[in-house]
Formats: sequence, C-alpha cells, structure tokens
Amino acid sequence: MNNSTPPRIAIVVPCYNEEQALPLSSKEMLSLLDEMSASGLIAADSYILCSNDGSRDRTWQVIEQLHAADDRIKGISLAHNRGHQNALLAGLMAVMDHCDAAISIDADLQDDPRAMIEMVKKFREGCEIVYGVRSSRQTDTWFKRTTAHGFYSFQNVMGLETIYDHADYRLMSNRALHLLAQYGESNLFLRGIIPQIGLKSDVVKYARNPRVAGESKYPLSKMLSFSIDGITSFSARPMRWIFMTGLTLLIIDILVAIYVLIAILNGTAIGGWASLMLSVWFLGSLMLISIGIVGEYIGKIFTEVKHRPRFAVAEELW
Ligand code: UDP
Ligand code: MG
Repeated sequence: MNNSTPPRIAIVVPCYNEEQALPLSSKEMLSLLDEMSASGLIAADSYILCSNDGSRDRTWQVIEQLHAADDRIKGISLAHNRGHQNALLAGLMAVMDHCDAAISIDADLQDDPRAMIEMVKKFREGCEIVYGVRSSRQTDTWFKRTTAHGFYSFQNVMGLETIYDHADYRLMSNRALHLLAQYGESNLFLRGIIPQIGLKSDVVKYARNPRVAGESKYPLSKMLSFSIDGITSFSARPMRWIFMTGLTLLIIDILVAIYVLIAILNGTAIGGWASLMLSVWFLGSLMLISIGIVGEYIGKIFTEVKHRPRFAVAEELW
C-alpha cells in the first residue's frame, strides 16, 4: 500500500443480542471515523460492518435502521447463532476484498475505540497485525479478571501461543486477512491462529471499560468451553502428557518391584501380595503408555486434517 494515501478501514463488529449497545457504540465509532478521516488518517469511505450472529432480539432491525441513517454502517446476518468467533470471521471475510485493513471490536464499547487511532498509525508505519492489549482490568469484576487470567496462563502451559490480555480487538491488513482465509479449520480460535500467520505485528494498550449496555454473553461456562476449544484445537500436548505419565509410572513400577523383592526375601510379604502389587503398577503404566502411543498418532492426524497452510510468504522479489 502507498503510505501517502489514507487507507480504507473496515470496522467489524460481531453482534449477538446487542439491540441496546449497538446504537450507542455505532454512534461513537462513526464519530471516530469522522475524526480520523478529517485528520487524513483514514479514507472517507471507511465503514463499519455489523455481523449479526443470529440474534434473538431486534439487533438486525437496529442494524437496518442504522444503515438507512448512514450507509457507512453495513451489515451481514448469520442464519443461526454460531458464536463470537464465527460471527467475527464471517465479518472479516465479508470485508476482505473491500478494505485496506480491518479492525475487529466488540459491540459493547468495553474496548476503547480510540485505540484504533494508534492501530491505524502503526498500520501506516508498516505493521500488518496490531493487537489491542488491555492495560488494566480494573472495571471487570474480580471473578472475571481472575478467571480470564487463569485462562491465558493455562493456555500457555498447554503449549498454545496467545497474546496475553489480548481478546479479539485487533487490526489486520488486507494481506493478513487473505492469509487467514486459507485456514480451513472449523474449530475456530482466532487468537491462536493469528499469531501463527506471522507478519510484522505490534501491540497497542488501552483501558478496558465496563459494558455500555446489555449484559455479557460470555458466562463462565462459555469461557471454559472456549478455553478447552482453544487448547484442543492447537495443541496435542495433553496426549503427550498421558504418555509421559505412563513412562513415569513404569519407573515407579521398577522401584516397587525392588521393594516387593526385598519384602519377599525378608519374609514379611503376605502370600499373593507381591503378584498383586506388581501387576497393578505394571498394568497401569502399560495402559497409559499404550493410550499415549495411540494419542501420539491421533495428534498427527489432528494436525493433518486441519489442512492448515504450511507457510506464508511475507516478501517477494522477482
Ligand atoms: N457475541 C457474538 N456471538 C455470541 C456471543 C457474543 O457475536 O454467541 C459478540 C457480542 O455481541 C459482543 C462480543 O461477541 O460484541 C463479545 O461478547 P461479550 O461482550 O458479551 O463478552 P465479554 O466482553 O463479556 O467477554
Ligand atoms: Mg464485552
């Protein structure tokens, strides 16, 4: 992209039952678009795309009204509720060929929209992915904060590379969007995939606000299943652990065997005890090792069936 022409930016907003929040947040984002295009940071035809995730309330009607009032507000509507990640991907794919960069943000203004200014600046300096990272979570409840932090740490332990305290507030260049489109997996965990795309990236910090209206669509149960999805779609490490546990048990088994032998020699063993002890430990470790080996193969199948792109070319000279 030519750095002197302001880029066309698409703001992508997944919306599920956001009839209360959307009028407020779209208003704020439109005035931010005005401000950024007036200062020459972005093109005047930049826009907002609302991706309605099969809402059960009047969200879609609200989007229609907003579009009628200002055609910089655009919309797509999914036939069913497919979850935040899918709604977001649908939006990103819809804008992919109609923007220089897309910024994804939630509909509830919890993530400060003004951080977009910094994101676009970094984009114009040559970054292709800019992650919004929360500088504090003071406004979240203690419970939400602790569970969310637990969620990031657990993922890292499980071998999943994610950006700490980054949710799905980020800018992606047109090229990054096209690379993302090559990931064919249906268990979508964008926060894990996008760091894998590579490309030049940077981070913008912002303060997290309370929800502007309505209530959270991410109760603990959804967070938990989201976390498990994240780990199981990126890492075969839990299976490796089964294998390692089996090996450890085998070593313990050898120690137990020595102990049992000594007990027999000393004459302190009760009849039948030795064979019982040995078989319990031996069979236990044998079973875990066997499951672990099967797991290793399943792990390979698991990475193969995803048909992920094997590489992404960043620069070319011909
Ligand atoms: N969302 C969605 N589909 C869902 C659940 C949520 O598109 O099934 C959207 C929601 O409208 C919001 C964003 O995802 O724009 C984040 O949801 P929320 O703010 O409720 O999550 P929290 O910030 O509490 O984690
Ligand atoms: Mg929220």
